Amino acid sequence: MLEIESAEGIYMFGSKGEKYIDLISGIGVSNVGHCHPKVVRAVQEQAAKHMHLMVYGEYVQSPQTLLAKAIAQTLPEHLNNVYFVNSGSEAIEGAIKLAKRFTGKTQIISCKNAYHGSSQGALSIGGSENFKRAFRPLIPGVKSIPHGEPGALDLIDEDTAAVVIEVVQGEAGVKTAERSYFDRLRDKCTATGTLLILDEVQTGFGRTGKFWAFEHYQLRPDILVAAKGMGGGMPIGAFMASQEIMSVLKNNPILGHITTFGGHPVSAAASLAALRVIQGENLLVKVEAKAKRFKSLLNHSAIKEIRNLGLMMALEFDSFEVLKPIIDRAIELGVVTDWFLFCDSAMRIAPPLIITEEQIEEACKIILQAIDESFK
Ligand code: PMP
Repeated sequence: MLEIESAEGIYMFGSKGEKYIDLISGIGVSNVGHCHPKVVRAVQEQAAKHMHLMVYGEYVQSPQTLLAKAIAQTLPEHLNNVYFVNSGSEAIEGAIKLAKRFTGKTQIISCKNAYHGSSQGALSIGGSENFKRAFRPLIPGVKSIPHGEPGALDLIDEDTAAVVIEVVQGEAGVKTAERSYFDRLRDKCTATGTLLILDEVQTGFGRTGKFWAFEHYQLRPDILVAAKGMGGGMPIGAFMASQEIMSVLKNNPILGHITTFGGHPVSAAASLAALRVIQGENLLVKVEAKAKRFKSLLNHSAIKEIRNLGLMMALEFDSFEVLKPIIDRAIELGVVTDWFLFCDSAMRIAPPLIITEEQIEEACKIILQAIDESFK
């Protein structure tokens, strides 16, 4: 069991002075690195000004307003309304409820092997039967389709309120899809009056080398969901939509979504600082080159396949039995990785985006050593 006492940049430090390279970023959270000085300062300054007041009502809190504006600037013009919550799961809940309210429909389509969170609604649209079994009955009216298979999109019909989909499936082990698939998905949604909800909880805030993964595919979401990397290490989530869609929630919050702490001012300040670090330090420019470096260095016969979009990577091994000792050994040697919820034969590589060329070399050397030693 690791006992981490502090963390900085790509490193985590144990209570006995051990030093670890973090290759998972708290599952895609610490995109700007641990305890980025600008994020830490924003947290300290905001905590000293005010913490929780009232979220939506007669007060407007400046960290939220500034953050909403900054997020809107990263998005296509129509996604100009932001609703802040506390986490990815809660953002998914809000997005599903918004889609039901706006369309007046109840059917939801989501993908096999999708992970959207652990609350009841998020679980209901999750793609793993193993995860859902113990909690049935879950919310009704959910259909499941394979991610990336165009033929399955024919299931979308006029009774469908929303399709909820990860642009890149994270917990399925970094599963991408073709641009033509997303084009067809968009067309189907438009033709049937179905809202397209993109879950960018894991892919958003720069993880894939674009600020949002949908930019890789020129895909137009109706509702966008974010969390994780959004907070720069602090808990926050959000769903974004057009004024027209969001107005059903704003005009009648009781029929929408209510959250006490959603968009907490300290988290909002941290998020704004993280966003400005991503933009100000040009972190996205080198993501693709860094991913390529990982791929060229991680050349080993035990690695069967490398899947990635930017610095969201999966190294496929033969089985969990092969992978687990490698992960354990890598941790002993000072590199932290893990596997995916629904793909336990693949190693997760999702370092802070600030990782340098030398640090990539050091991390890959250790992974290769761990692989070789685990086969001895
Ligand atoms: N959606 C996706 C794609 C995720 O990867 C996760 C978390 N792994 C969630 C939703 C849920 O987020 P949270 O854990 O913040 O509730």
